[in-house]
Amino acid sequence: MKAKDIIKTLDKLCSPKLIDSWDNTGFQIGNDQKDIKRILIALDLDEYVINKAIDEKYHMIISHHPLIFKPLKNINNRSYLGNMILKLIENKIVVYNAHSNLDLAIGGVNDKLAELLGINNPSPLNKIKKEKLYKLVVYVPEDSRELILRALEEEDAGHIGNYSSCTFNTKGIGTFRPLEGTNPFIGVTNILEEVNEVKVETIVKEEALNRTINKVIKIHPYEEVAYDIFELINEGYNFGYGRVGDIEEVDALNFIMDIKEKLNLDHINIYGNLDKKIKRVAVCGGSGGDFIEDAYNKGAQIYITGDIKYHQAQLADQLGMIICDAGHYHTEKVALDVLKDFILKEIDEVQVDISLKPGISHRVL
Ligand SMILES: [Zn+2]
Repeated sequence: MKAKDIIKTLDKLCSPKLIDSWDNTGFQIGNDQKDIKRILIALDLDEYVINKAIDEKYHMIISHHPLIFKPLKNINNRSYLGNMILKLIENKIVVYNAHSNLDLAIGGVNDKLAELLGINNPSPLNKIKKEKLYKLVVYVPEDSRELILRALEEEDAGHIGNYSSCTFNTKGIGTFRPLEGTNPFIGVTNILEEVNEVKVETIVKEEALNRTINKVIKIHPYEEVAYDIFELINEGYNFGYGRVGDIEEVDALNFIMDIKEKLNLDHINIYGNLDKKIKRVAVCGGSGGDFIEDAYNKGAQIYITGDIKYHQAQLADQLGMIICDAGHYHTEKVALDVLKDFILKEIDEVQVDISLKPGISHRVL
């Protein structure tokens, strides 16, 4: 499959519309026409990962942390980053990153972390981006209705809460007069035609709107497809960082030991009083120290994240919360499985491997 088609498929998981304003992520290096058969997934795109990709003949690297974050003034062999970019271009390796959009995504880093730690009904800690919803109305001849319904279903149109494939279908009569130069599926040039049609109405998320319309146009038998798009004021999903939800009430220390095991940690830094039972748990993969008050406001008694600073730990302690600093890498490494599982589910004929080596050598002595 071409790189551009893999990137388009990844948009379904981590839409570019979810990229936060401070971030720089997406398709960063390479030729999107390149045929991709081998993909390497890593958290960080460092020299180790690049050399592995070259030595083991991977065509594409997908990483969570972006390679190019700040604007570059030059790309040459005189800087560490320049050297890495040159190596990737010389070896024709395509680079794609999924960063804040994978953190915010439904089924992304934070949902996966919440699932791993057994948190029920997780919801975001804050509101960063609101999903826009549209109503799509398509007019289709009666005997092609099934085709259109299947096309809509494939793009997950009509997803409302825990229900999928929601549509409303009204029978009616469509009229049209094919003009000179047309090649009508039904009817004859210059004769007014009447056809039994169905008006299919459904709801479509913003990130899927163009994809869904293009699919409908491709599948629809008519030369000119009649469709309407309405912008809705219905509330869509509120995308935000982190997740908060409930667990079965348990001693704090037992839960922390469980986290250590599930995240496969040598050690974990804990702040706050452990002598209590907990039920409401917040998580955020990576550097979640800025969301301590969000977690507190959502009722969290314990918050698991990485990169906690001294004053953030102090704030949490004052608020009566327990903070578990499990490390940036270990709270985000779930991103690797999220990406791998998604690609294997959506794309045939690609090999996907994970590079598990953390970007930094680290010892606690
Ligand atoms: Zn990170």
